[in-house]
Amino acid sequence: CGIIGIVGKQAVADRLVDGLKRMEYRGYDSAGICTIDGGELIRRRAEGKLANLVEELREHPAAGDVGIAHTRWATHGAPTARNAHPHATEHVALVHNGIIENYKELRQELLDDGRKLESETDSEVVTHLISRRIESGESFEDAIRNVLPRLRGAFALAIVFRDHPDMVVGARLGSPLVVGYGEGETYLGSDALALAPLTQRISYLEEGDWVVVTREGAQIYDETNELVERPITHSGASA
Ligand code: GLU
Repeated sequence: CGIIGIVGKQAVADRLVDGLKRMEYRGYDSAGICTIDGGELIRRRAEGKLANLVEELREHPAAGDVGIAHTRWATHGAPTARNAHPHATEHVALVHNGIIENYKELRQELLDDGRKLESETDSEVVTHLISRRIESGESFEDAIRNVLPRLRGAFALAIVFRDHPDMVVGARLGSPLVVGYGEGETYLGSDALALAPLTQRISYLEEGDWVVVTREGAQIYDETNELVERPITHSGASA
């Protein structure tokens, strides 16, 4: 339902949760974050109110300057912590807004391949499709280019890779996703409002776009994988 990602200069967990708070008005049933720290993906999730995630983070902090976060409005799978996003393998963690309509056949393909899925969501199949390619030695770019065309339905995605600790990758089709430009930091959000305390300098991704977000900025590709420019606008959203 709500997505925020930060490639930051300093700890991101608190700011990720603040971004989720700004999207609470959209409604949600669970929430979670994943940061990258010390070569590991650090994932925290909780059912129910954001206060539960905040409590979880108090007991088990998530350090790191790069991370993604999500508030979930369940469409496939009960609203439990296990079904909350991010969905993760050892290599990849991902949050998803929308619905993957062909998830059943993708899920069966993954199960037939011996992969262990831990949730009932449509979203987790995307995590595994990408992770499987990374594990077989593919670059993250090739993994993204190969997996996105397999997805039917609607999605906004934010993805972190354990072995690429200085970036977040985003993609959208049928669900909104924006890039926010800061000073030595760059952001992703499903909503310009979520980024308002961080920046008002926003690019709206277009249908089929995917993006590599680093501290230096964003490289945006269209659905034919051509590098493209998307105009930077002033969001006018107030912090
Ligand atoms: N379809 C996904 C799920 O049920 C994402 C829902 C959302 O947009 O929050 O987990």
